[in-house]
Amino acid sequence: MAEKRIYLSSPTMHGEEQEFIKEAFDTNWVAPLGPNVNAFEKELADYVGIAHASALSAGTAAIHLALKLLGVGEGDVVFVPSLTFSATCNPIIYEKAVPVFIDSEEDTWNMDPAALEAAFEKYPSPKAVMVVHLYGTPARLDEIMEICASHNVPLIEDAAESLGSTYKGKHTGTFGRIGIYSFNGNKIITTSGGGMLVANEEEFTKKATFLATQARDPARHYQHSQIGYNYRMSNIVAGVGRGQLLHLEEHKALKKAIYRKYEERFSDIPEITLNPLNKDGDANCWLTCMLIDPGCGVTPNQVMDALEADNIECRPIWKPMHLQPVFEQCDFITKDGSAENKPSMDSVSADIFEWGLCLPSDVKNTDEDMERIIGIVRRCFGR
Ligand SMILES: *Cc1c(COP(=O)(O)O)cnc(C)c1O
Repeated sequence: MAEKRIYLSSPTMHGEEQEFIKEAFDTNWVAPLGPNVNAFEKELADYVGIAHASALSAGTAAIHLALKLLGVGEGDVVFVPSLTFSATCNPIIYEKAVPVFIDSEEDTWNMDPAALEAAFEKYPSPKAVMVVHLYGTPARLDEIMEICASHNVPLIEDAAESLGSTYKGKHTGTFGRIGIYSFNGNKIITTSGGGMLVANEEEFTKKATFLATQARDPARHYQHSQIGYNYRMSNIVAGVGRGQLLHLEEHKALKKAIYRKYEERFSDIPEITLNPLNKDGDANCWLTCMLIDPGCGVTPNQVMDALEADNIECRPIWKPMHLQPVFEQCDFITKDGSAENKPSMDSVSADIFEWGLCLPSDVKNTDEDMERIIGIVRRCFGR
């Protein structure tokens, strides 16, 4: 086994982060408020091109507040893609609302507009639609936005994995009524943990910040007319974010180069295809994933075992939510309609899960690291 471990996507710090933290210490702003928090909100909003932002403790907290801001409550239906991380839909359950899972399409691996249409036939008035830009690839936003507009339903964008990705020249996270980002440890930039809620309507970010700081009414005494949360980002964490934001474009360029390298070095192996990048967008290539031609004799588990045996981190594709025991009772809609009467494995999202895997996409990967990974994958296919 090689001594040097290669990571899937680990934090990459540059130095400026510590300067912002030092400033926070020196001025004693060691609290869930302060100049770094305000500056990080402004800098991130400027970067993605949106009017307002609210810095929060996690992307999950941002999703939770987005749902609350749109009035999602008990019994309300929310459409979400099945192929995502559980953090996308857990907050729907926090609010006792009802997730309805939508299948993916092959062109982007994201929410299938045809399946979304089918979902509206069965559930004509969901309270919200949440789209995810999986692994950094923008969803088919034109179609999805048009469907949402025609049914007069607000769109939330879970852009946790796609910070820096654009669709037709505009940043993901800025298309919906509300967008959210995550700065968890393995995301394209990290603050160790954290999230951001963004919107063009200031009402939303103001209310998010209010709810995130225990919903304290403006009064001298502690007055509350709503239930609040402790979801605000700390001034230390925001300092890390300010430093990282300076390197987001650089991380994106490195992630894209990793994708291109895999693409080039696997181009002679027809059994391998990489995760799609939306042709109408510019993806941040957060993680490069590969799909194996079913029935070619090689399985994702074999490839993952071979990589792990050489001290290389990799992982499966997110397991679709409609296949999760915890969401067993929830409905799942494919482009052919409801999946009630057919096996749940018969779907695009289940196929991607069954035949895909995530390749190491760490921005610190050297050429040598890339060749080590590529060599092992090639050997799995007898090359
Ligand atoms: C990481 C992630 C989240 C959650 O963000 P946290 O900051 O970890 O709470 C939500 N959705 C998706 C798709 C993610 O990948």
